[in-house]
Amino acid sequence: MAMGMPRKEFWYGETWAAVEYRRAYDLRLEQESQFAWLQGLYFFDGVSVAISNALRKKGTRAQDYIKEPIRITPLSPQEKAAKERAEQNKIIAYFSNLERASDRENEAARASMLLSADGSEMIICPHCDTYQTRRSVCMKCKAAL
Ligand SMILES: [Zn+2]
Repeated sequence: MAMGMPRKEFWYGETWAAVEYRRAYDLRLEQESQFAWLQGLYFFDGVSVAISNALRKKGTRAQDYIKEPIRITPLSPQEKAAKERAEQNKIIAYFSNLERASDRENEAARASMLLSADGSEMIICPHCDTYQTRRSVCMKCKAAL
């Protein structure tokens, strides 16, 4: 009866029904345990964030509580595709930044080589990434330097 089976069904119902009630009861117990565990995880995270923020050194950034609830059901195909796209964009952005940074380093190296060659000071325009002799306006994009 503790498993939720009505007395009448227990005594007069199908014999396999008791087995099914037992199985459903076990599943419910398992589910309750998982909820309790998840609640503990949220609680632990909340307390950890609060303590680490209270004890953090001056100038360090405060930690945030988890941005969104922990996902326990599987993602739908659309959600999966959107997530993959976001990951790809992140990777592409990372490598383009890396490439841009390395281009800038190469430009800087070339500019300093030119500096030693003809004696004039070279700079790189932060707007269009071209190197040129020092002046107040970029010769390519006309931006102020
Ligand atoms: Zn420019």
